[in-house]
Amino acid sequence: MKYISTRGQAPALNFEEVLLAGLAEDGGLYVPESLPVFTLEEIGSWAGLSYAELAYKVMYPFVEESIPAADFRKIVNETYAGFDHEAVAPLTQLGPGEWVMELFHGPTLAFKDYALQLLGRLFEYVLAKRDEQVVIMGATSGDTGSAAIEGCRHSEHVDIFILHPHQRVSEVQRRQMTTVLADNVFNIAVEGNFDDCQRMVKSSFGDQSFLNGRRLVAVNSINWARIMAQIVYYFHAGLSLGAPWRSVGFSVPTGNFGDIFAGYLASRMGLPVNQLIVATNRNDILHRFISANQYKAQPLAHTLSPSMDIVVSSNFERLLFDLHGRNGALLSQLMADMAKGEAQVEEGRWKAARRLFDSLAVTDDETLDTIREVYEKDGYMLDPHTAIGVRAARHCRRQKGTPMVTLATAHPAKFPEAIEKSGIGVSPALPRHMTDLYEREERYAVQPNDLEAIQRFVAEHMRQA
Ligand SMILES: *Cc1c(COP(=O)(O)O)cnc(C)c1O
Repeated sequence: MKYISTRGQAPALNFEEVLLAGLAEDGGLYVPESLPVFTLEEIGSWAGLSYAELAYKVMYPFVEESIPAADFRKIVNETYAGFDHEAVAPLTQLGPGEWVMELFHGPTLAFKDYALQLLGRLFEYVLAKRDEQVVIMGATSGDTGSAAIEGCRHSEHVDIFILHPHQRVSEVQRRQMTTVLADNVFNIAVEGNFDDCQRMVKSSFGDQSFLNGRRLVAVNSINWARIMAQIVYYFHAGLSLGAPWRSVGFSVPTGNFGDIFAGYLASRMGLPVNQLIVATNRNDILHRFISANQYKAQPLAHTLSPSMDIVVSSNFERLLFDLHGRNGALLSQLMADMAKGEAQVEEGRWKAARRLFDSLAVTDDETLDTIREVYEKDGYMLDPHTAIGVRAARHCRRQKGTPMVTLATAHPAKFPEAIEKSGIGVSPALPRHMTDLYEREERYAVQPNDLEAIQRFVAEHMRQA
């Protein structure tokens, strides 16, 4: 399988290359040239497989030219053996046909572990084979940093540097990053805000000369392998609820559109999906697009669901590419317009998206109401991101007879401030493997908001080959 850029001007790559590539050189994102499509019989034959076995079946067509089957099977088995629920992604029922899929049973309690635990192992496998050392740099306002660190902490071939805004991430989130004391893990607390961190990471990708020939690798959600790993749990939920012999709908708390894009791919690969709901907070650019065909950036709002606080959603380009007949030239024009703040999508293309997608934007007050309602009725605690998904599921559900699954993207203990604000009077407990988080030793370096200082820090601390 080959991977091509959404802007049509970069060379096609194989899986191994795309894993290490990040952004394409024409500024686009990599997508598979064509998707594997499974028959209903084939999908039906997967009922009852373990999560890891299913993951192997769904993902192998994407990697087969780069990784032998036995090796890939082993990597996948190891990845999900470390999760602390035997079902890996268990479903909980909230009401008639209304389900929540818990994606917080990985080491850092958010769905990002499902992809980043795999990504870390894939890096190690590929880099060992190539005998190559790389540097990862990432900026985080929360969940991505800790999941990436956990994914790479055992890697001999990766040094990982995660920038977070000093004193501006929650204590749980900071501790999840800074208590990993491995000698290839470096936390940098930047005296600036999240945008400063992101800008410095971007500039570093633009000019990597400070690394003396070492390659810089991306772990944000533009990395194709992350999307690939997320396709699996849509099949897993569908099979648990009677697919492929009946359809299933999904409601997905959405920021950069990576997670829900994986759901769209699952439907194109043969899973019968009747509806995909884009659930956003007040940062509602995608809701405005889906409900009214308006695609226009607005200033960032800080909400109780910080992992969905975005201005534009980077992965939305991948869907737009399909909506535009996979025409790279058309898409380059559209993205150039968007860089100026607003783009126009033809009515017919927008309507094609509407066949599958619905959306809702949810305020902070509505988020808190939903946490309270569900807790009071069922005794089940939702994190603020998942609450947005549940609210959108209830509001947008098209067919009562079709099961609707909301993706629970984080454990409530990750966002204790929001739970407290909801007034339910109970604080969420950390799972057993993390109860000593507040006693663990922390390590991080505070650095000025200055590109040269950050790059010097990276160059001085990366391990020598
Ligand atoms: C990252 C994240 C999201 C948003 O996912 P995208 O793939 O960026 O749309 C939602 N909820 C939580 C808890 C997250 O960490």
